Amino acid sequence: MTAQSLPDPVPSGQSPAREKSGIPKNPGRRDLGMKVSLLFPDREIVEKFYVPVIYTACRTCYSEEVPEEIFAKAVDGGYDPAKMQKLISSVIESGHGSTIEHVVFTFAITGVSRTLSHQLVRHRAGVAFDQQSQRYVKFKGAATMLPHSIAEGDPALREKYEEQIDGALGLYGEMLEAGVPGEDARFVFPNAARTNLVMTTNLRALIHMSGLRLCTMAQWEIRRLFQLVRHEIFSVSPFLGSFLAPKCVPLGYCDEFKNRDEHCPIRPHKDNVLGAWAEKAAAARAGGRELPQA
Ligand SMILES: Cc1cc2nc3c(=O)[nH]c(=O)nc-3n(C[C@H](O)[C@H](O)[C@H](O)COP(=O)(O)OP(=O)(O)OC[C@H]3O[C@@H](n4cnc5c(N)ncnc54)[C@H](O)[C@@H]3O)c2cc1C
Repeated sequence: MTAQSLPDPVPSGQSPAREKSGIPKNPGRRDLGMKVSLLFPDREIVEKFYVPVIYTACRTCYSEEVPEEIFAKAVDGGYDPAKMQKLISSVIESGHGSTIEHVVFTFAITGVSRTLSHQLVRHRAGVAFDQQSQRYVKFKGAATMLPHSIAEGDPALREKYEEQIDGALGLYGEMLEAGVPGEDARFVFPNAARTNLVMTTNLRALIHMSGLRLCTMAQWEIRRLFQLVRHEIFSVSPFLGSFLAPKCVPLGYCDEFKNRDEHCPIRPHKDNVLGAWAEKAAAARAGGRELPQA
């Protein structure tokens, strides 16, 4: 497939979505031609075993019961599900992260650009990747990602971009035909080249990655990827899915220095929170009371 053979980010005849605020446009409204599927586990396994496994890890820390007993009772419905969720939520919120390293999720990720995959594989802790090889696969119809700023921008620039991409892919094919090994011919591939991966991650790493990549400061394509990841987790467990959020949500404030102007209003910026605290401390001091210093 070429750049032209995948759906445009904005289908023809439709006007681009209007930006409502300073937050970067939500890529979730666009069909980027990428796909995320949760390969394992399915909803039944998550419902029957995942919450009990996490609960067992949490409760073992605070109970005289042995883990086998806790797990068997949890699987058999011997604990109130709401109480199980409450303990798990409190433990996660208090940062006791090892309790959620006991469950893993495996995703098929297809049609993302190499620009995205290069960012994704920077995550190291608690996550494993396997990626389509550009050495062993001979790409007869390599597909590419078309960024919406180019798709919707100056038509002459878009034409030039597509010429470059098609030229690079054409040269790749020529080199293969001339006997250049795939591992060398691939040097001409653009960052836009699409790729496929399998990603397995424990829940702690997934929450961490989602915190960074669902943030509106993240690059649009990887942000979209994590929106799809979150959708997949929600489809097997709305409870576990609820922990996948931009990092500012559990933190209570934004720590991105590029958001000091609070153009993304999801949470107040750290500087403003600390400023408000300093004012409160000064007012308390004036009234003869000392507040703890931040
Ligand atoms: C918005 C954004 C912009 C970025 N821009 C750039 C950029 O311009 N250039 C660039 O190079 N990268 C960039 N990155 C990548 C970033 O620096 C990280 O490499 C990437 O997000 C992986 O996250 P992580 O370090 O939390 O690693 P993970 O592997 O996800 O690790 C999870 C956590 O485990 C702990 N941990 C993991 N490994 C170690 C270790 N070896 N030692 C101690 N603790 C460890 C840390 O607490 C870490 O946060 C960007 C990331 C984001 C989200």
